[in-house]
Amino acid sequence: MTPNREDYLKLILELGGDQAKISNKQIVAGLGVSAASVSEMISKLEKEQLVKHTPYQGVQLTNAGAQKASDLMRRHRLWEVFLVEHLHYSWNDVHDDAEVLEHVTSDELANKLEAYLGFPEFCPHGGKIPAQSAIINEQKRQTLSDYPIGSKIKIARVLDEKELLDYLVSLNLNLQEVYTITAIADYEGPITIQNESKQIAVSFKAASTIFVDLVE
Ligand SMILES: [Zn+2]
Repeated sequence: MTPNREDYLKLILELGGDQAKISNKQIVAGLGVSAASVSEMISKLEKEQLVKHTPYQGVQLTNAGAQKASDLMRRHRLWEVFLVEHLHYSWNDVHDDAEVLEHVTSDELANKLEAYLGFPEFCPHGGKIPAQSAIINEQKRQTLSDYPIGSKIKIARVLDEKELLDYLVSLNLNLQEVYTITAIADYEGPITIQNESKQIAVSFKAASTIFVDLVE
């Protein structure tokens, strides 16, 4: 499936692009597309004044872009909570259905769904659910690939991306788990993390889309 403009907006927001510049490389990793497709879409979004692009620095959402992405994210994440909590989907299987549902959800339906779910704060991937008309204010975090060997980290949020989630399921890596980084291979090789029950080698690409909190 080729990602559309809305997927780009949402990803840039998920990566913190409402407040800081996001590199094309992060977008390439997050959407699994070529660098050329990313550049092409960025210039389209810039023409629509949804993002601002600074050569060699990256891309940042405009207010209009952040609002549009937040509205979509709100609907998407509310449906994810519904699918996981009430229809027992697993966290790697909710994406496609939530993706379809977010586009056919009115403000009223989103509000009623939110109330029905008890005003959840986070989606099953650890992402924040914004209030109506609010712009998402995701907690700023570094990714697993940003920390040195010996760091003790907790998995706090992952990108809502099907291939990544399937990969994390295959590794049996879950939110809220705590690990110590025990090895980092050269040249963007895998990052090995370990706790009492597991040792996992996470690819560099995946590690750069897994947000973690440092544990004391
Ligand atoms: Zn999610």
